[in-house]
Amino acid sequence: MCPRTRKKKFGKNWTKAKAKVQRIHTKIANARRDYLHKTTTTISKNHAMVCIEDLQVRNLSASAVGTLDAPGTNVRAKSGLNKAILVQGWSEFRRQLDYKTAWNGGHLIAVPPQNTSRTCLRCGHVAKENRQTQARFACVKCGFKENADLVGAINVLRAGHARLACGETSLVGASTQEPTEATIRELACA
Ligand SMILES: [Zn+2]
Repeated sequence: MCPRTRKKKFGKNWTKAKAKVQRIHTKIANARRDYLHKTTTTISKNHAMVCIEDLQVRNLSASAVGTLDAPGTNVRAKSGLNKAILVQGWSEFRRQLDYKTAWNGGHLIAVPPQNTSRTCLRCGHVAKENRQTQARFACVKCGFKENADLVGAINVLRAGHARLACGETSLVGASTQEPTEATIRELACA
């Protein structure tokens, strides 16, 4: 190997390269933080009730709605990049959504993630075969087809409504301070 192309460890060029890599990492971290704050602020300002899957990091779907009487607005990651950011920042995303919805007088409801991506919106059939690919949902029983993220988000929203309807009304109260950890109430009526 040509010695001129090699960076000697702790040498001048090595130190320069290391600083460059660190700057890139800082840039990525800042971009992620900005994205999470913008997204959670927008969602919490525009929706009084937000339902999320109660999961760690593996998988995600989010739905949001203005009022119980007028459901219909689904908030989803728009692109692969946004999705990747959300996967890495899921717990932070959830923490921010929790306190920001509370600040705005709304509620964050976490629902069990089981079968949200496998349940048919039309006939209710649950099967892992309904989810043929990452992107497409196709019910093996009734033939209903839809974007898989949309199906997941609507199932999350329905599960959130079901939790509200079963009588648990002691949701997240108004906060005046940013909490240090997630304070999402687990509604024990599933
Ligand atoms: Zn079906």
